[in-house]
Amino acid sequence: MKRHDVLILGGGLAGASAARVAHQAGADVAIVSKLSPLRSHTVAAAGGINAALAAGDTWEGHAFDTIKGSDFLADQDSVEILCREAPNLIVEMDHLGTPFSRDESGTLFNRPFGGMRQARAFFAGDRTGLALMQTAWEQLVKAGVTLYEEWAATSLIVENGRFSGLIAYRIADGTLEEFQGKAVVVCTGPGGQMYLKSTNAVTCTGDGTALAFRAGCALKDMEFVQFHPTSLHGPNILITEAARGEGGILKNAKGERFMEKYSPKMVDLAPRDIVSRSIQTEANEGRAFPGGYVHLDLTHLGAARIKERLPEVYQFSTEFAGVDPGKEPIPIEPAQHYIMGGIATNNAGATNVPGIFAAGECACVSLHGANRLGGNALLECIAFGKHAGAAAAAFAKKTAQIAGGEQILQQEDRRVDWLLKTEGGERVEALRLELKQVMWDNVGVFRNEQDMAAALAAVRALRKRYPSIRVGAPGKQFNYALIEAMELRNLLDLSEVIVMGALARRESRGAHSRTDFPSRDDPNWLKHTLAWWRGDRIELTYEPVRITQWQPQERTY
Ligand SMILES: Cc1cc2nc3c(=O)[nH]c(=O)nc-3n(C[C@H](O)[C@H](O)[C@H](O)COP(=O)(O)OP(=O)(O)OC[C@H]3O[C@@H](n4cnc5c(N)ncnc54)[C@H](O)[C@@H]3O)c2cc1C
Repeated sequence: MKRHDVLILGGGLAGASAARVAHQAGADVAIVSKLSPLRSHTVAAAGGINAALAAGDTWEGHAFDTIKGSDFLADQDSVEILCREAPNLIVEMDHLGTPFSRDESGTLFNRPFGGMRQARAFFAGDRTGLALMQTAWEQLVKAGVTLYEEWAATSLIVENGRFSGLIAYRIADGTLEEFQGKAVVVCTGPGGQMYLKSTNAVTCTGDGTALAFRAGCALKDMEFVQFHPTSLHGPNILITEAARGEGGILKNAKGERFMEKYSPKMVDLAPRDIVSRSIQTEANEGRAFPGGYVHLDLTHLGAARIKERLPEVYQFSTEFAGVDPGKEPIPIEPAQHYIMGGIATNNAGATNVPGIFAAGECACVSLHGANRLGGNALLECIAFGKHAGAAAAAFAKKTAQIAGGEQILQQEDRRVDWLLKTEGGERVEALRLELKQVMWDNVGVFRNEQDMAAALAAVRALRKRYPSIRVGAPGKQFNYALIEAMELRNLLDLSEVIVMGALARRESRGAHSRTDFPSRDDPNWLKHTLAWWRGDRIELTYEPVRITQWQPQERTY
């Protein structure tokens, strides 16, 4: 058994930010992470991080764009905190050593992102996440924060309604161990692997979100799933929005710049929900290329500028599509990219379960509402990672450790043992693929009652088949088949929450676009969905949106 004051579950940008602050507050902190931190999904983040730092920009402008982008579902007090703090956070990361791109005079470059009226995305080429992650990680190495690397958490322990620890599985040798702690900050990142087409890595299975859910935390607004308009046709590797920020143009199979029709003012740089719907409409109406893709044209930028500002776009296009973006347009299509919902927290990162905090992509402070604007996620990780780390350290300071979860450890031990030995007929990878197909086909860019009802039945049927799985690999060392079996359970639970929320919400708002209820319906649906795990079923409740100074208005671009 291991023991620390504050456990940070996940070593991505949110986890690293939380750990740094909790450590600075004097807590004994340990990070428990399924992956080596520098393999966290943050390192895939490409295009930029937002702040109202350029001359003439204001935090209010950033906040309004974010709230309008969210289709007025974001909690406005939380957005205000994010946008007020953003400029200082960029300066702080710069001073800590993030190699932001600059002009010859040393001024930070910035570029426009979708849905922003002002260029306010600061960047390090198109490897912004990697640059920020390395900076954040260096600080933890310097501080000597304890790291348990390649330990996958399998459950959170709640005793008498309060967090007391977690169980994690050491991937290298199959050790299952209890980690006691007075507080945990869940920072386990994305969970988009329930979709067939996704920019998320295969490891992004929403583990912490599912663990917190089953431990009693409410999940908020999970039906709002972002589909990024420009993933590479086929492998669905992200072609960052920065490509359009640098001047990239979308064209259909007839060579038309179709976004002029859908977003007369912002054109190619409309928010992601609008651009994805536009591409899907072009495809549905026969104006896409066979296979449903359209073109992203960067040829007018020239190879030199593409290589300088968008080196990864250049590399991905040439290596994975055989296309030189300096000479030919890039074939792109929408793919799942982000889940706006997550573990419901307040502005300090606290959940409804004392001792459990959450931050980063797995959390829902409610900054992105029904549609996230690009460049706000990295910012969220730093801003609210720090708030959650500070709050968890303060909580730990005034709290005594409660006795351990021996029973849960035994229960988890039996579960792992069962998974290793069970000889059921269902292959894990086949079930996962079925789930991905069901979610992509029925709960995607456009949705309707009939498809989603079919999806709900299918997801529930898959959950019933889960007890008949076969891992097919009995070993304890680096048994990734076993890890995938555990991940599948998480994906199934979260998929059910997504579909239930989406079916219940009879309106279109942001990324939740229903062909049978095409309008936003503020009188009935200007509210957040909360999902609760009741053991044998999932229950939905609702809570009001917090509005400070921006009344909902028509969302046109
Ligand atoms: C391709 C791509 C490009 C993007 N570009 C941008 C951008 O330019 N700007 C922007 O603002 N946003 C961008 N985003 C979004 C942004 O990168 C993410 O929202 C953010 O980096 C998530 O950080 P995180 O710390 O929450 O999660 P992650 O960085 O994914 O870290 C999660 C951590 O949790 C750990 N973990 C997971 N499961 C377990 C478990 N069971 N037990 C223990 N540990 C676990 C992992 O090992 C990892 O260390 C992009 C996203 C993608 C997919």
